[in-house]
Amino acid sequence: MRDPILVCKNCRATKPEADGTPTDMFPAEHCGECPPWRCDDCGQMCSAASLCPCWVQLSDLPTADVKALFAADGTFSIDPVVGES
Ligand SMILES: [Zn+2]
Ligand SMILES: [Zn+2]
Repeated sequence: MRDPILVCKNCRATKPEADGTPTDMFPAEHCGECPPWRCDDCGQMCSAASLCPCWVQLSDLPTADVKALFAADGTFSIDPVVGES
């Protein structure tokens, strides 16, 4: 039996198995299940239902597409800080 896959680093959501989305490889910073969080970029509160100004132009895209968009340039889903070497 496989370990659950971490989907979201913010709320620690998991999924039981890979489903072909970018979170198969890397957990997202936030997901639709997250409680509101403060945006690192603009400092405003942000949630799945009420996105901060940074997200406005992305909000028309399905969540999976947004994740794929950010995963493509490696700035959204990949956390390089995993302990000391
Ligand atoms: Zn989440
Ligand atoms: Zn923002």
